[in-house]
Amino acid sequence: MRTAGLPARRAVLTAGLAAAAGALSGCSAAPVRKVTTAAPQPRPATPQAAYARLMEGNKRWVSGKLDHPDRDPERRELVAEAQDPFGVVLACIDSRVAPELIFDTGLGDLYVLRTGGQAIGPVVTGSVEYGPLTGGTPLVVVLGHQRCGAVEAAYTSLKAGKPLPGNLEALAKAMVPAYELTAKNPGADPVDTMTHHQIEVTAEGLRTNADLGPLVEKGALGVVGAYYSLDTGRVEVLTGAPA
Ligand SMILES: [Zn+2]
Repeated sequence: MRTAGLPARRAVLTAGLAAAAGALSGCSAAPVRKVTTAAPQPRPATPQAAYARLMEGNKRWVSGKLDHPDRDPERRELVAEAQDPFGVVLACIDSRVAPELIFDTGLGDLYVLRTGGQAIGPVVTGSVEYGPLTGGTPLVVVLGHQRCGAVEAAYTSLKAGKPLPGNLEALAKAMVPAYELTAKNPGADPVDTMTHHQIEVTAEGLRTNADLGPLVEKGALGVVGAYYSLDTGRVEVLTGAPA
Protein backbone atom coordinates (compact mmCIF):
# COMPACT_ATOMS: atom_id res chain seq x y z
CA MET A 1 0.00 0.00 0.00
CA ARG A 2 1.38 3.35 -1.02
CA THR A 3 1.85 6.11 1.48
CA ALA A 4 1.98 9.83 0.95
CA GLY A 5 4.64 10.07 3.63
CA LEU A 6 5.05 12.19 6.70
CA PRO A 7 3.06 15.40 6.77
CA ALA A 8 5.76 18.04 7.06
CA ARG A 9 4.00 21.16 8.23
CA ARG A 10 4.98 24.26 6.36
CA ALA A 11 5.71 27.43 8.19
CA VAL A 12 2.51 29.37 8.53
CA LEU A 13 2.40 32.61 6.66
CA THR A 14 1.81 35.00 9.52
CA ALA A 15 1.46 34.89 13.27
CA GLY A 16 -2.15 35.93 12.90
CA LEU A 17 -2.89 33.04 10.63
CA ALA A 18 -1.05 30.68 12.94
CA ALA A 19 -3.21 31.80 15.81
CA ALA A 20 -6.30 31.34 13.67
CA ALA A 21 -5.18 27.85 12.73
CA GLY A 22 -4.46 26.87 16.30
CA ALA A 23 -7.80 28.16 17.44
CA LEU A 24 -9.58 25.62 15.27
CA SER A 25 -9.55 22.40 17.21
CA GLY A 26 -8.79 19.33 15.15
CA CYS A 27 -6.71 21.38 12.76
CA SER A 28 -3.71 21.89 15.01
CA ALA A 29 -0.19 22.20 13.75
CA ALA A 30 1.33 20.20 16.61
CA PRO A 31 4.58 18.28 16.00
CA VAL A 32 4.19 15.01 14.17
CA ARG A 33 4.83 11.70 15.91
CA LYS A 34 7.32 9.75 13.83
CA VAL A 35 6.08 6.42 12.52
CA THR A 36 8.13 4.20 10.26
CA THR A 37 6.44 3.55 6.93
CA ALA A 38 7.56 1.69 3.85
CA ALA A 39 8.73 3.78 0.89
CA PRO A 40 7.00 7.01 1.79
CA GLN A 41 6.08 9.22 -1.11
CA PRO A 42 6.88 12.89 -0.65
CA ARG A 43 3.89 15.15 -0.21
CA PRO A 44 3.37 17.19 -3.38
CA ALA A 45 4.64 20.66 -2.52
CA THR A 46 3.83 22.56 -5.72
CA PRO A 47 0.60 23.12 -7.65
CA GLN A 48 2.02 21.06 -10.51
CA ALA A 49 2.95 18.10 -8.31
CA ALA A 50 -0.36 18.16 -6.44
CA TYR A 51 -2.27 18.33 -9.71
CA ALA A 52 -0.26 15.43 -11.14
CA ARG A 53 -0.91 13.34 -8.01
CA LEU A 54 -4.66 13.89 -8.25
CA MET A 55 -4.86 13.17 -11.96
CA GLU A 56 -2.82 9.99 -11.55
CA GLY A 57 -5.30 8.92 -8.89
CA ASN A 58 -8.21 9.67 -11.19
CA LYS A 59 -6.61 7.55 -13.92
CA ARG A 60 -6.52 4.65 -11.46
CA TRP A 61 -10.19 5.28 -10.57
CA VAL A 62 -11.15 5.18 -14.26
CA SER A 63 -9.14 2.02 -14.93
CA GLY A 64 -10.18 0.27 -11.73
CA LYS A 65 -6.52 -0.36 -10.81
CA LEU A 66 -6.69 1.40 -7.45
CA ASP A 67 -3.94 1.87 -4.88
CA HIS A 68 -6.25 2.74 -1.95
CA PRO A 69 -3.28 4.60 -0.41
CA ASP A 70 -2.96 5.55 3.22
CA ARG A 71 -6.20 4.13 4.56
CA ASP A 72 -4.91 1.93 7.35
CA PRO A 73 -4.46 2.33 11.12
CA GLU A 74 -0.80 3.17 10.60
CA ARG A 75 -1.76 6.18 8.53
CA ARG A 76 -4.38 7.19 11.06
CA GLU A 77 -1.70 7.25 13.75
CA LEU A 78 0.70 9.13 11.50
CA VAL A 79 -1.66 12.03 10.92
CA ALA A 80 -3.47 11.98 14.27
CA GLU A 81 -1.55 14.92 15.71
CA ALA A 82 -1.06 17.03 12.61
CA GLN A 83 -2.23 17.20 9.05
CA ASP A 84 -0.73 18.62 5.91
CA PRO A 85 -3.08 17.92 2.99
CA PHE A 86 -1.73 18.65 -0.49
CA GLY A 87 -5.06 19.71 -1.99
CA VAL A 88 -8.45 21.27 -1.38
CA VAL A 89 -11.41 19.85 -3.27
CA LEU A 90 -14.71 21.73 -3.39
CA ALA A 91 -17.24 19.30 -4.81
CA CYS A 92 -21.00 18.72 -4.93
CA ILE A 93 -22.81 16.83 -2.19
CA ASP A 94 -23.85 14.25 -4.79
CA SER A 95 -23.36 10.77 -3.31
CA ARG A 96 -21.57 9.63 -6.47
CA VAL A 97 -18.90 12.34 -6.37
CA ALA A 98 -16.68 11.41 -3.42
CA PRO A 99 -13.29 13.12 -3.94
CA GLU A 100 -11.22 10.60 -1.97
CA LEU A 101 -12.55 7.80 -4.18
CA ILE A 102 -12.43 9.67 -7.47
CA PHE A 103 -8.80 10.70 -6.88
CA ASP A 104 -7.77 7.50 -5.06
CA THR A 105 -6.32 9.42 -2.12
CA GLY A 106 -5.89 8.55 1.53
CA LEU A 107 -6.46 9.87 5.02
CA GLY A 108 -5.05 13.35 5.52
CA ASP A 109 -4.43 13.98 1.81
CA LEU A 110 -7.26 16.40 1.04
CA TYR A 111 -9.38 19.08 2.58
CA VAL A 112 -12.83 18.28 1.21
CA LEU A 113 -15.79 20.65 1.07
CA ARG A 114 -19.09 19.61 -0.44
CA THR A 115 -22.13 21.77 -1.11
CA GLY A 116 -25.03 21.46 -3.53
CA GLY A 117 -23.71 22.40 -6.99
CA GLN A 118 -20.39 23.27 -5.23
CA ALA A 119 -22.06 26.60 -4.49
CA ILE A 120 -20.08 29.00 -2.37
CA GLY A 121 -20.66 31.79 0.12
CA PRO A 122 -18.45 33.36 2.78
CA VAL A 123 -18.34 30.32 5.08
CA VAL A 124 -17.40 27.98 2.25
CA THR A 125 -14.87 30.40 0.78
CA GLY A 126 -13.23 30.77 4.19
CA SER A 127 -13.02 27.00 4.48
CA VAL A 128 -11.44 26.70 1.02
CA GLU A 129 -8.88 29.33 2.01
CA TYR A 130 -7.95 27.67 5.30
CA GLY A 131 -5.35 25.27 3.85
CA PRO A 132 -3.70 27.62 1.35
CA LEU A 133 -3.51 30.51 3.82
CA THR A 134 -2.43 28.70 6.98
CA GLY A 135 -0.48 25.71 5.68
CA GLY A 136 0.56 26.42 2.10
CA THR A 137 -1.76 23.84 0.53
CA PRO A 138 -0.76 24.23 -3.13
CA LEU A 139 -3.91 23.25 -5.03
CA VAL A 140 -7.65 23.94 -5.02
CA VAL A 141 -9.96 21.94 -7.28
CA VAL A 142 -13.53 23.06 -7.93
CA LEU A 143 -15.24 19.86 -9.05
CA GLY A 144 -18.64 19.88 -10.70
CA HIS A 145 -20.25 16.89 -12.32
CA GLN A 146 -22.55 15.40 -14.94
CA ARG A 147 -26.31 15.34 -14.23
CA CYS A 148 -26.05 17.60 -11.19
CA GLY A 149 -29.41 17.70 -9.42
CA ALA A 150 -28.55 20.87 -7.51
CA VAL A 151 -27.69 22.76 -10.69
CA GLU A 152 -30.82 21.41 -12.36
CA ALA A 153 -33.00 22.58 -9.45
CA ALA A 154 -31.37 26.01 -9.48
CA TYR A 155 -31.73 26.31 -13.26
CA THR A 156 -35.41 25.33 -13.20
CA SER A 157 -36.15 27.68 -10.31
CA LEU A 158 -34.33 30.68 -11.78
CA LYS A 159 -35.80 30.14 -15.26
CA ALA A 160 -39.35 29.97 -13.88
CA GLY A 161 -38.79 32.76 -11.35
CA LYS A 162 -40.07 30.45 -8.62
CA PRO A 163 -37.90 30.31 -5.47
CA LEU A 164 -36.78 26.93 -4.16
CA PRO A 165 -38.28 25.92 -0.79
CA GLY A 166 -36.62 26.93 2.47
CA ASN A 167 -32.86 27.18 2.62
CA LEU A 168 -32.51 25.52 -0.79
CA GLU A 169 -33.11 28.97 -2.21
CA ALA A 170 -29.63 29.97 -1.00
CA LEU A 171 -28.18 27.49 -3.49
CA ALA A 172 -30.11 29.02 -6.38
CA LYS A 173 -29.01 32.51 -5.36
CA ALA A 174 -25.37 31.41 -5.23
CA MET A 175 -25.69 30.07 -8.79
CA VAL A 176 -27.20 33.21 -10.35
CA PRO A 177 -23.96 34.21 -12.15
CA ALA A 178 -23.72 30.77 -13.78
CA TYR A 179 -27.42 30.90 -14.65
CA GLU A 180 -27.11 34.30 -16.30
CA LEU A 181 -24.27 33.08 -18.51
CA THR A 182 -26.35 30.02 -19.39
CA ALA A 183 -29.45 32.05 -20.23
CA LYS A 184 -27.47 33.90 -22.91
CA ASN A 185 -26.51 30.68 -24.69
CA PRO A 186 -28.09 27.57 -23.15
CA GLY A 187 -26.98 25.07 -25.81
CA ALA A 188 -28.56 21.66 -26.26
CA ASP A 189 -28.37 20.77 -22.56
CA PRO A 190 -28.86 23.92 -20.45
CA VAL A 191 -28.25 22.14 -17.14
CA ASP A 192 -24.92 20.81 -18.37
CA THR A 193 -24.06 24.22 -19.79
CA MET A 194 -24.86 25.79 -16.44
CA THR A 195 -22.81 23.14 -14.64
CA HIS A 196 -19.78 24.07 -16.74
CA HIS A 197 -20.34 27.78 -16.05
CA GLN A 198 -20.80 27.10 -12.35
CA ILE A 199 -17.42 25.34 -12.24
CA GLU A 200 -15.66 28.07 -14.20
CA VAL A 201 -17.26 31.00 -12.39
CA THR A 202 -16.53 29.48 -8.98
CA ALA A 203 -12.92 28.63 -9.83
CA GLU A 204 -12.33 32.06 -11.33
CA GLY A 205 -13.78 33.76 -8.25
CA LEU A 206 -11.47 31.85 -5.93
CA ARG A 207 -8.46 32.25 -8.22
CA THR A 208 -8.75 36.02 -8.25
CA ASN A 209 -10.05 36.86 -4.79
CA ALA A 210 -8.12 39.13 -2.44
CA ASP A 211 -6.78 36.27 -0.32
CA LEU A 212 -5.95 33.54 -2.84
CA GLY A 213 -5.15 35.75 -5.83
CA PRO A 214 -1.69 36.79 -4.58
CA LEU A 215 -0.75 33.14 -3.94
CA VAL A 216 -1.86 32.22 -7.47
CA GLU A 217 0.10 35.13 -8.95
CA LYS A 218 3.34 34.05 -7.32
CA GLY A 219 2.87 30.43 -8.39
CA ALA A 220 2.33 29.01 -4.90
CA LEU A 221 -1.26 27.98 -5.56
CA GLY A 222 -3.22 26.54 -8.46
CA VAL A 223 -7.01 26.78 -8.70
CA VAL A 224 -8.42 24.24 -11.11
CA GLY A 225 -11.97 23.96 -12.42
CA ALA A 226 -12.88 20.39 -13.34
CA TYR A 227 -15.89 18.34 -14.49
CA TYR A 228 -16.53 14.79 -13.38
CA SER A 229 -18.29 12.30 -15.65
CA LEU A 230 -20.59 9.96 -13.74
CA ASP A 231 -20.57 7.66 -16.79
CA THR A 232 -16.81 7.21 -17.15
CA GLY A 233 -15.35 8.31 -13.80
CA ARG A 234 -13.04 10.67 -15.64
CA VAL A 235 -12.19 14.14 -14.35
CA GLU A 236 -11.92 16.62 -17.22
CA VAL A 237 -9.99 19.78 -16.43
CA LEU A 238 -11.74 22.89 -17.71
CA THR A 239 -9.63 25.74 -16.37
CA GLY A 240 -6.51 26.54 -14.38
CA ALA A 241 -4.36 23.43 -14.93
CA PRO A 242 -0.94 24.34 -13.45
CA ALA A 243 1.53 24.90 -16.29
ZN1 LIG B 1 -24.41 17.85 -7.96
